[in-house]
Amino acid sequence: MPEALIDRFGRVHNNLRISVTDRCNIRCFYCMPAGDVQFMNRKELLTFEEIERFVRVVVPMGVNKIRLTGGEPLVRRDLHVLVRKLAAIPGVQDIGITTNGILFSEQAQDLFDAGLQRINISLDALDPVKFQEITRREGYEKVVASIHAAKRVGFNPVKVNAVSIRGMTEDQIIPFGHFARETGVEIRFIEFMPLDADNAWERDKVLFASEIIERLSKEIMPLVPIGQRDVHAPATDFEFADGVGRIGFIASVSQPFCMDCNRFRITADGKIRNCLFSLEETDLKGLLRNGGTDAQIEQAVRASIAAKNEGHEINTAKFIQPDRPMFSIGG
Ligand code: SAM
Ligand code: SF4
Repeated sequence: MPEALIDRFGRVHNNLRISVTDRCNIRCFYCMPAGDVQFMNRKELLTFEEIERFVRVVVPMGVNKIRLTGGEPLVRRDLHVLVRKLAAIPGVQDIGITTNGILFSEQAQDLFDAGLQRINISLDALDPVKFQEITRREGYEKVVASIHAAKRVGFNPVKVNAVSIRGMTEDQIIPFGHFARETGVEIRFIEFMPLDADNAWERDKVLFASEIIERLSKEIMPLVPIGQRDVHAPATDFEFADGVGRIGFIASVSQPFCMDCNRFRITADGKIRNCLFSLEETDLKGLLRNGGTDAQIEQAVRASIAAKNEGHEINTAKFIQPDRPMFSIGG
């Protein structure tokens, strides 16, 4: 049995995020550029067979949790085929997806039947006008319909990711609190991170988790932490004091959780990244397409994990934003 993927700081990596495309059907301002986007050539994208082979190589090293992302993963409309392939690999315990929900309701049943277990749907505003302001596209109703479709099909829990942006989403905090209470959907507020294509991120634009907790607690009811959380989960979870409604926070900027990180990623064009914020990546596609052996793939993964930095440096003057924006890395 190969050794686990442990880095210089003792962090064990069992969690793989797979980006299946950089394309997207909306244009969230904190991720995509306002103007034209140069997407990867389709031939550059890893095929489902290549992804499956990679997963078969890393599972014996302890990887048991997978999340599919992008770009928008569901623009690859046969994604359920990949889910089925991955679910069949012995050792894969958990397959999730992060999607903007525009195309989800029509694929929900196929994905569920194929073995998808977890779903996070991204929605930053419970208001169609604000939705369009943020995403620069229409589609609010489709996303809301997808949240309900996810519940109907049987996903449990259903989580909604909401990026919190100062000067823009303050008025969504209380509506989301009520939405969590009324629907049983868990809302996870994510602090805006410096991964936007337009390089417009500033610390002043981050609406901090602590402020949201304070407002929800004051205006709805106190939030209490949910005990025994998975230390590796990026979200800190709370529920309202009466037990109705869960709210999570991914406070990457104000409370970095790098020392608990158990993740690594592959981009849609087949690069291994050991961190969202890393400035270097390791080529995987070349190995997959040019006769690389499983041992060479394993070696490439180990080299990437061995080179992982202690943490991101968003809060220091040393921080350098990666060249790839979020849609190209895979969030
Ligand atoms: N397109 C899918 C979606 O939006 O759910 C999956 C990919 S998206 C890059 C993954 C997650 O990253 C989404 O929840 C999105 O809101 C979040 N995200 C994107 N850019 C971000 C940023 N600059 N800061 C914080 N979260 C971001
Ligand atoms: Fe598309 Fe997701 Fe980026 Fe929004 S966050 S532009 S939905 S990839």
